[in-house]
Amino acid sequence: MNIILLGPPGAGKGTQAAKLVEKLGMVQLSTGDMLRAARTSGTEMGNKVAAIMDAGELVTDEIVIGLIEEQLDKGGNGFIFDGFPRTLAQADALGDLLSAKGETLDCVVELQVNDEVLVDRIVGRAREAVAAGGTARADDNEESLKVRLMEYYKKTSPLIGYYYAKGDLKPVDGLASMDAVEASIAGVLDA
Ligand code: AMP
Repeated sequence: MNIILLGPPGAGKGTQAAKLVEKLGMVQLSTGDMLRAARTSGTEMGNKVAAIMDAGELVTDEIVIGLIEEQLDKGGNGFIFDGFPRTLAQADALGDLLSAKGETLDCVVELQVNDEVLVDRIVGRAREAVAAGGTARADDNEESLKVRLMEYYKKTSPLIGYYYAKGDLKPVDGLASMDAVEASIAGVLDA
């Protein structure tokens, strides 16, 4: 089974992906995590995207499609796409990459939330990271968040219509408790 977790920043995609990995042994493919790893290891690509990510803008389709292709080439099945696709071009590319491997996309879980909750969650996530002795993500601040939300509405939210038209969209209430969201996703995947 291959699924996409779709939703704005702070909707809970990473949290729910981790639960699916734990419960079903699926493989999480988070382009955000891959890009952060590329930055940490100081690769040329990582250095190139650092400023774009910190500002909250999207990196190029070419880069993220390349990262996903690399992972798919490693094989396995049961992928959770987390934070990818974020544009219509990425969505088309994912469809092509999967069909070239004889795979299909089984469903797109849309985590529905509202903007006030997103700001609170993301600012809270930054505070928790600092309280735990770590550092907050460079893009978890109100200024970058505004850009991230605008990028989401301009470039990513059209995917809701795209996947609805394909018959793949499964909306889930992302405002419920973490466990309730997990249960709703399990219900969607069982159906
Ligand atoms: P995330 O961890 O998913 O919130 O991603 C963090 C940042 O990485 C985003 O704000 C973008 O700058 C970049 N990014 C992650 N995934 C993508 C993607 N699919 N397309 C373009 N940029 C991405």
